Amino acid sequence: MDEFLTQSIAEADPEVAEMVRAETARQEFTLELIASENHASRAVREAAGSIFTNKYAEGYPGRRYYGGCVVMDAMESLARDRAKKLFGAAHANVQPHSGASANLAVLMATVRPGDTILSLDLAHGGHLSHGLKVNFSGTLFNIVSYGVQQGSERIDMADVRRLAREFKPKLIIAGFSAYPRTLDFGAFAEIGKEVGAAVMADIAHIAGLVAVGLQPSPIGVCDYTTTTTHKTLRGPRGGLIMCGEENAKLIDRWVFPGTQGGPLMHAILAKAVAFGEALRPEFKVYQQQIVENAQALAESLVSRGYRLVSGGTDNHLMLVDLRAAHPDLTGKQAEEWLEQAGVIVNKNMIPFDERPPTQTSGLRLGTPALTTRGMKAAEMKKVADLIHAALSAEGEETAINRVREDVRALCKQFPLHG
Ligand SMILES: *Cc1c(COP(=O)(O)O)cnc(C)c1O
Repeated sequence: MDEFLTQSIAEADPEVAEMVRAETARQEFTLELIASENHASRAVREAAGSIFTNKYAEGYPGRRYYGGCVVMDAMESLARDRAKKLFGAAHANVQPHSGASANLAVLMATVRPGDTILSLDLAHGGHLSHGLKVNFSGTLFNIVSYGVQQGSERIDMADVRRLAREFKPKLIIAGFSAYPRTLDFGAFAEIGKEVGAAVMADIAHIAGLVAVGLQPSPIGVCDYTTTTTHKTLRGPRGGLIMCGEENAKLIDRWVFPGTQGGPLMHAILAKAVAFGEALRPEFKVYQQQIVENAQALAESLVSRGYRLVSGGTDNHLMLVDLRAAHPDLTGKQAEEWLEQAGVIVNKNMIPFDERPPTQTSGLRLGTPALTTRGMKAAEMKKVADLIHAALSAEGEETAINRVREDVRALCKQFPLHG
């Protein structure tokens, strides 16, 4: 037998093993506030690293292009059934490799090159797979954007309707990567009907909240729902598409063979595990805590002089407009100082930002990962203090190091990996 078959990373590859050690320590001893990240369970990670990675299973349960798929069929059917139960969907395709791959399949199923798509402006919280010029979506299709209103910094459905009537899109996308408020999926669906457009809801960020009813569900309201499985849903990296029976065949065809080859069976196994976790009552408690923590963090930041886009949040994320508390500080510089202090965030455009996307005037913060560690509202106040201290230090090393020590102490109180 090949000796490599049974060796651990530590035995087989010290160079890579050192990287695993370093990344484990980084995750353990930093505060993860990136709104799209989370800490998947040991069971999810075990599934993602399992022997299911060895299997080719092109096709769908009962209709494979390879032999040896008996367990694959049972497993993929289980993943599909759990996804359907979790979201109340008629049909689920669990094969998309990622959120962007899920969107690729839906776009190919609903629009032809040159057709118009109406989607949220990237600079106002949209996602690159909804029409960025250098993405497939912006290259193949004609993109018209809706944005948030100046002042309220919220999406105005009357404006979406006006744009839909004027530009007659074939597809309307309701979804975001950086919008702290609730979307009105019913209104999007109504507008789609009026102008003859299909409507896709992309709940990549809020899937966990939707699954437990803390955000409205687009299932049965919009024609297609796409999501990632690794954000609030806390599964492995991956994508998922849900739709009604009437579009099931079309979607399955556009995932395979339309846009993908062999499915990642280890990832689908891990999705099954994650959906199983999400179906348990504890998952609702977890999602409720995410929202409570977001409220607490938002309030604490506001009380320390920070301005939040739209004044607050309805979900798990918030956009900090740095200009109020620190007029000369860019998002880029803030992200760097916070990382030195052990607080991991991402710079983000705020609506109508005067700074370029490489600098930005904002930060996007989310609470899913800290909530997974067991932190609650009291810790969010502490986190707001740490953020404020790190940004007010203006790069001064001793002050930042002091924050770094406090961050480390807080992480030790809420261990990740035991
Ligand atoms: C994160 C995200 C995606 C893409 O997910 P990937 O798995 O990174 O491809 C798609 N849509 C939205 C709205 C997202 O936030």
